[in-house]
Amino acid sequence: MRVLVVEDEVRLAATLQDLLELNGYTADVCHDGEAGLDNALSSIYDVILLDVMLPKLDGFTVLRRLRAEGNSTPVLMLTAKSETADKVTGLDSGADYYLTKPFEPKELLACVRALTRRSPELRETDAVTCGDLRLEQSSFTLSCGDKSVRLSRKEFDMLELLMLNKTQIITKEKLLVKVWGYESDAEDNNVEVYISFLRRKLEHLHSAVKIKTIRMVGYCLEY
Ligand code: CA
Repeated sequence: MRVLVVEDEVRLAATLQDLLELNGYTADVCHDGEAGLDNALSSIYDVILLDVMLPKLDGFTVLRRLRAEGNSTPVLMLTAKSETADKVTGLDSGADYYLTKPFEPKELLACVRALTRRSPELRETDAVTCGDLRLEQSSFTLSCGDKSVRLSRKEFDMLELLMLNKTQIITKEKLLVKVWGYESDAEDNNVEVYISFLRRKLEHLHSAVKIKTIRMVGYCLEY
């Protein structure tokens, strides 16, 4: 699961990123509304944490533009205590949830969990299934029949994206951004390396699902 944190208080943003990563999420941080909107529009995030008072574009504007573009990623607005009236504005712009600062870490994690459960792609359970494969989010376990293997975080993120899209082609660029984020200097061959790890694991599980390479474009599942 990938979370985008849009928060201009650098220390708070870093704390949120640490907290999320400690709890099994991958988190990217943006410190202003413009960068936040650009990143959010990539549709690679499962949840967005969005501050209200932000440089360049405020949180409500970011949210309105995001929804206007047809992006329905769940958004958790982070509001300061004094901004109670803003909550009404936020509701109109399509936020899913509010958290008033300062908040407890466990409160934040509960909200993030609630929002990811609501994400239609993931249904009620933590698991994504595809062909004979079942991928468990809580334990990073991939199983096929009675065999199972644990995946690394990057393998998990990559395979989850492929499984959620069934047989649709996912470009290398999208995989790269989903797994390594925008800030990293990872390259196309990082994707290839992890695809080969995943293929080995699929073989080990004797799964009928194959990761097919579409030359010059990307990958898709075949089953
Ligand atoms: Ca702020």
